[in-house]
Amino acid sequence: MMKTMTLIAKGTLRAWRFAAGMLLLAGAAALLFWYQPVQALDIRPICETCRRYTDKSPSRVMAYIEIGRHVKRLDACSLFCLVEMLEDQEYEPTFIYVTDYATFDTDEQMPLDALKAWYVYDCETGDEEKSNCPYVYAFASEATAREYQDDLGGEVLDWEDTLARITELTDEWEPEPVGHHHTPLKHPRTKKDDQ
Ligand SMILES: [Zn+2]
Repeated sequence: MMKTMTLIAKGTLRAWRFAAGMLLLAGAAALLFWYQPVQALDIRPICETCRRYTDKSPSRVMAYIEIGRHVKRLDACSLFCLVEMLEDQEYEPTFIYVTDYATFDTDEQMPLDALKAWYVYDCETGDEEKSNCPYVYAFASEATAREYQDDLGGEVLDWEDTLARITELTDEWEPEPVGHHHTPLKHPRTKKDDQ
């Protein structure tokens, strides 16, 4: 009888050990499973100048540079950081996209052609965790930029003037391409009144 009891006890103990082992394994598997996607999701675009994440920046900029058959994308949290970055690039960007501040963080978030956008330059409102100074926000039209200026402070400028101000800050940036020629960034802007 005692022997049977001991056997049952041993059996139960074995069953418990087995259950505990399985639970540990399941836990470890769950942890691994959970951890990996989290790590994978952490591949976020980073500003190469200041190392801030760019995907949450209201002044995010993306520039595309053609190098032979390859297209290189530069990610920047701000125009300031982009101009800094471009100082080290051999070629000028073919396209520069800026975030439309009016649609930022909405379902309709739209990139704008930087050369055609209007800017509120040196805004008083900004988040230094998301973007580098000066805070410069882009808008689809001059009118929209002026609407937002009331709240943002700063100055309404077109691309050329914005670029000139930023270039002053980043000391000197030669917009002349080296070798390969692309549309210059400072091409004359067609003003609405001229049309
Ligand atoms: Zn930056």
